Amino acid sequence: MNTQQCLSCGASEGMVHFEGRGETLSVKGMERRVDHLSGWECQKCGEIELDEVCGQRYSDACDELVIASRKMIGNEMKKIRRKLHLTQKETVQLLSGGGHNAFSRYERGEVLPPKPLILLMRLLERYPHLLTDVKTFGEGADLRGFEHIVHKEHESLSVS
Ligand SMILES: [Zn+2]
Repeated sequence: MNTQQCLSCGASEGMVHFEGRGETLSVKGMERRVDHLSGWECQKCGEIELDEVCGQRYSDACDELVIASRKMIGNEMKKIRRKLHLTQKETVQLLSGGGHNAFSRYERGEVLPPKPLILLMRLLERYPHLLTDVKTFGEGADLRGFEHIVHKEHESLSVS
């Protein structure tokens, strides 16, 4: 048997070579299968080291999957936003904050939206009437952009 020492746990003949293995990658519910992988696996600690070419193929597949899942989330965000009859600009002002083109970057899949925003959008898709509450609660919640702070001097504290 083709063996070598495991650099992870130190087992002297721990690593056994394997070939023709398939793995299914999964990101946010999307799956991608990578076949014909070869490499070394430690029988003792489970450490896996793919052969170089396979490692590259494997990490390319991971990257592709991450990009595809960002696009999928982006499409979902766009679909929900349109359902709610909001423009990208309104959505940023109401829900996410950030630059005026932040939401279009999410929708194009360039950036993964923060998890709370994804959750919020999904909640609003299910309970669209909550948008009214969002508008109410949102007033004054975003304190960025307030450039002037008014100092009130000689104000006496009222004790209630
Ligand atoms: Zn090991």
